[in-house]
Amino acid sequence: MDADDTRAVLNTSIQYIKGVGPRRAESFASRGIRTVADALLFLPRTYEDRRRVATIATLEIGQRVSFRARVEDFAVRRIGRSPRRQMFELLLGDDTGRITCRWFHFNQASFANRFRRGEWVRVAGKVSNYRGRRVLIHPDVEKVLTSADDAGEDFAAVVPVYPEIEGIYPKVVRRVMRRVVGNYSAHYPERLPAQMRQRLRLPGVDESLRLVHFPPRQADLAAYQQWRTPQQRRLVFEEFLLLQLGLALRRRRWKSNPAEVRAAPGELHRLAREMFGFELTGAQKRVLAEIAGDMAAAQPMNRLLQGDVGSGKTAVALLAALLARQAGAQTALMAPTEILAEQHFAKLGRVASRRLAGQPGLRLELLTSSVKGARREQVLAAVAAGQVDLLVGTHALLQQRVQFARLGLCIIDEQHRFGVMQRARLRQKGKQPHVLVMTATPIPRTMAMTLYGDLDVSVLDELPPGRVPIRTVVLRGNQASQAYRQVRREVEDGGQAYVVYPLVQESEKIDLRDASSMFERLRQGAFSGLSLGLLHGRMDADEKEQVMKRFARGQLQILVATTVIEVGIDVPRATVMVVEHAERFGLSQLHQLRGRVGRGRRPGSCFLVAHNLASEDARRRLQVMARTSDGFEIAEADLAIRGPGEFLGTRQSGLPVFAFGDLVRDADLLQLARDEARTLVEADPELKRPQHAALLEGLRQRWAGALALAEVG
Ligand code: ADP
Ligand code: MG
Repeated sequence: MDADDTRAVLNTSIQYIKGVGPRRAESFASRGIRTVADALLFLPRTYEDRRRVATIATLEIGQRVSFRARVEDFAVRRIGRSPRRQMFELLLGDDTGRITCRWFHFNQASFANRFRRGEWVRVAGKVSNYRGRRVLIHPDVEKVLTSADDAGEDFAAVVPVYPEIEGIYPKVVRRVMRRVVGNYSAHYPERLPAQMRQRLRLPGVDESLRLVHFPPRQADLAAYQQWRTPQQRRLVFEEFLLLQLGLALRRRRWKSNPAEVRAAPGELHRLAREMFGFELTGAQKRVLAEIAGDMAAAQPMNRLLQGDVGSGKTAVALLAALLARQAGAQTALMAPTEILAEQHFAKLGRVASRRLAGQPGLRLELLTSSVKGARREQVLAAVAAGQVDLLVGTHALLQQRVQFARLGLCIIDEQHRFGVMQRARLRQKGKQPHVLVMTATPIPRTMAMTLYGDLDVSVLDELPPGRVPIRTVVLRGNQASQAYRQVRREVEDGGQAYVVYPLVQESEKIDLRDASSMFERLRQGAFSGLSLGLLHGRMDADEKEQVMKRFARGQLQILVATTVIEVGIDVPRATVMVVEHAERFGLSQLHQLRGRVGRGRRPGSCFLVAHNLASEDARRRLQVMARTSDGFEIAEADLAIRGPGEFLGTRQSGLPVFAFGDLVRDADLLQLARDEARTLVEADPELKRPQHAALLEGLRQRWAGALALAEVG
């Protein structure tokens, strides 16, 4: 059979499988299963062991069980008083006891003829509790010949449990799947090249589909349930490989365009020492070498810089801009908020303007929506004339009127705050500029590989010396006054403090402390006599700006705020933070918040006040926070607690959704898939070799849409 025939066979409508028909086909369709191919990839949710045969006496409420019994009696009964609502009841027995089975949906005619008193059946199902008695609701029941007969394919085996399909009994779904797998798995295309399969010892796709759907009798149940069998892992690997191939191809495409500027690394370390007055950390030096290497190459850089809060990304960014300048090109640095852009501008301005030995300082300008009128015209003109080396700004940089003389490097800070299009638009202001995206939201390795598989990744995994670790204390709601006392002590000793709330205003629906009303209460109560400011997202940009500036200048001692302070704000004198209702915040959010304190020489402390610890996940999150301040460790824990789907919020993260793979469980396979994909694309850049045709086809089918989403431009 050639490829077209195979496709036609796999495209057979599920409706034509024996036992389906138009009505059930609709139910299958509601699960996205329209064709035989869809059905083959509809994998079991878990597996049930029906090999152990229980006696009725040992059945316990809540268990999934499998046993043999004799039919003692059966009848159609009314439910309650209603004459119309009926159920079918079957009484079963063995030498040890009796149990009742019930069906609330049943076909009168077929059920009445289905059973005979005294005959033997096999039963599988879950034992429910009906007023303290054990009953089986809608169990699977099959006739057998004798008390020892094991016949029946759904019994004495490890049986697949499929995701529920509304309107179709699990038993029927299983029967349909058995037919589909039996008749069609052999037609499913083998996409992995034979040589790769051999080398990695991966089973074929036909065998994999068969055994993943219907485990053999001697199956290792635990391995199946944990998705560890070679057949299950092969399917996951294939899924990962296709995505990684897509990313590798895109990476190659990017690299095949010549870069506009090539920079020579020069003496960056010495320059850094002169500019900043400190020695770069080992991690900064390593990352800088990676960036300089990229910028010296013929192809444009496309690199992600991950670094925890305070790890010194800004210094690295500035040195990269210096490299671009040495090559005669301009740099654009885009930050997500005005406060951040101004902060960058101020910080960079202090060092950048210094004349360095033998060369002029870096010429810096700021462009945000607050830069208006004649001043704005001046900045725009200077940028267009090439008189500005580094333009720092917000989304304002993306406006049509912003024209660079020669843009050689785009740096995007807190890149996850920007959409794909915005990143692309900044890039388009130059001709193949280098791109460096930075994030302080640590992303677990597996996540980075799926999201940014086409980017090179640098990690700043070392904090500048002299940082004292932040002390983190978890308190119950009624202990909050401890935290307030500490705040007062710190503030009276010359420090500053943040008090963070989850909401701006009181909510009628939930009983939560909120920033606005607590601001008043604290000002008159716990913090009377101190100077307090209020900051939240409903204030307009100017107001926020004013408050933030006053806090940064030390005119406010305590900032009562919502999470608007989360990103990047740097006030070195802030030493204490109190987070109220800490149980309501996500791990990465708590980590970002905590990063706002302890940025100076004085040791910082962070009080996480929990008012409601009913949720197990919330307790685990706070334990993690108390245990570690390592952003990557926290990110991994976050991923494990929340699962990949919710980790960054699937929609905004553009994280592709896997059908089989699990970023936590299958991390090793993802790494393997990525290595294989890169090697493969190096050897066959367009996937033109015949043995790769099936991979290319699979890639098109599976990821064509999602890849655009994950694009970092
Ligand atoms: P990030 O942007 O990664 O959160 P920053 O670049 O703002 O971190 O750096 C945090 C602070 O550490 C800044 O005040 C910066 O001047 C300082 N810093 C950065 N690198 C070093 C270093 N190698 N040695 C000492 N201090 C440093
Ligand atoms: Mg920063």
